[in-house]
Amino acid sequence: MRVPSKAERPPSVDRLARSLAETGLPHPILVEIAQAAIADGDYESAPARAEHLKRTLLQPVINATGVLLHTNLGRAPMAHTQDESYANLEFDLTTGGRGSRQRHVGELFAKACGAEAAMVVNNGAAAVLLVLGALAAGRGVAVSRSELVEIGGGFRIPDVMEQSGARLIEVGTTNRTRVADFANAIESPDNDIALVMQVHQSNFSIEGFTEAPTMTQLAGLTPPLVADIGSGLLDAACPWLSSGPPRWLKDEPAARQTLEQGADLIIFSGDKLLGGPQAGIIAGDADLVATCNSHPLGRAVRPGGLVLAALQSLALTYLQRRGTDIAFWRMASLTVEELEVRARALGTGTPTELASTPGGGTLPGVEIPSFGVAFPGDHTETLRRHQPPIIARVVENQTLVDLRTVAPGEDTIVADACRAL
Ligand SMILES: *Cc1c(COP(=O)(O)O)cnc(C)c1O
Repeated sequence: MRVPSKAERPPSVDRLARSLAETGLPHPILVEIAQAAIADGDYESAPARAEHLKRTLLQPVINATGVLLHTNLGRAPMAHTQDESYANLEFDLTTGGRGSRQRHVGELFAKACGAEAAMVVNNGAAAVLLVLGALAAGRGVAVSRSELVEIGGGFRIPDVMEQSGARLIEVGTTNRTRVADFANAIESPDNDIALVMQVHQSNFSIEGFTEAPTMTQLAGLTPPLVADIGSGLLDAACPWLSSGPPRWLKDEPAARQTLEQGADLIIFSGDKLLGGPQAGIIAGDADLVATCNSHPLGRAVRPGGLVLAALQSLALTYLQRRGTDIAFWRMASLTVEELEVRARALGTGTPTELASTPGGGTLPGVEIPSFGVAFPGDHTETLRRHQPPIIARVVENQTLVDLRTVAPGEDTIVADACRAL
């Protein structure tokens, strides 16, 4: 047997692990990587293995896809910092007694959308589960057959209904449902209908021979009306934007207007058009909100202080009408002219008109005119490997870099990475 030369001999696990220290990964993890590489007879692959592992860690990325609420990139971007201090999460500073974690943020969101009361849970799906479980367990909930939707990530209204213990009463047809269909379902005592539910067709649209009851018609029925509006647009008039509502926003249901039209309770997500952290908000009639809040499931789906603090600052920003301090609305309101100036200033690629999309399963088919740069060929892998990673998209064998979702402060990083393509 030939004795390997010094140069060929595999390094010790410890030496190999230490040579990877620059990656910043904890030593025990580097030891595992070194052991695996040596066991596979491929110790030279250890740095690549360490890099591969690093890329699985949560980290900031530059979103150059033009999809504003990119579900895979965490939906709405939001900055939030806080000190490592205690907070009056469940403590009443006036009385010195026990307080409610739902109070601070709940009251602010109620004000922001014109509701009597509001509360927060971990996400929109949890909000639907809690509302149905607290208000309709063991009873019927009437929903139009055109609204038995799947939102993505396997969230299906009929399945959530079943989990909540409520019984789904399907009403109408896929394309046409009338208020009389609901009235008939409510009249039948067997159905024992506790709630009428309207679910926004967030991520699809039905066109052609269609009909649906208005919110006002549904509100005229006897059982309480719950509207799952999905995206968390607080007010159709967008009073937080000095330029008013963007043109592409039309037909998106808004919290304030849905309540004005008679919904007793509305449900929406925190990280879609609301532009905040992952959360679900339940707003409307104070008694119904209180029933949800005191249900045992409410405890299981309650958010922590980090999310509540982030939502509180978001609610205050809305109430102060500082829309451009909310990253989603700031990006959404950039003009094509501003984006074109930035695209040309990159000094690389072909300046190109593009179309951004709201994303996040909202506003299907809506395009927002945008601007960016294009490169022939598919360079998405190279850009993904950049530090920080840049996520772009490929259309017709061209790599498109859409600047609407890139923060202006990231332009130089994008320019440097693109110049190297
Ligand atoms: C997105 C959405 C949900 C789910 O909300 P998450 O916050 O993603 O859990 C539920 N209903 C509708 C109509 C939605 O659009």
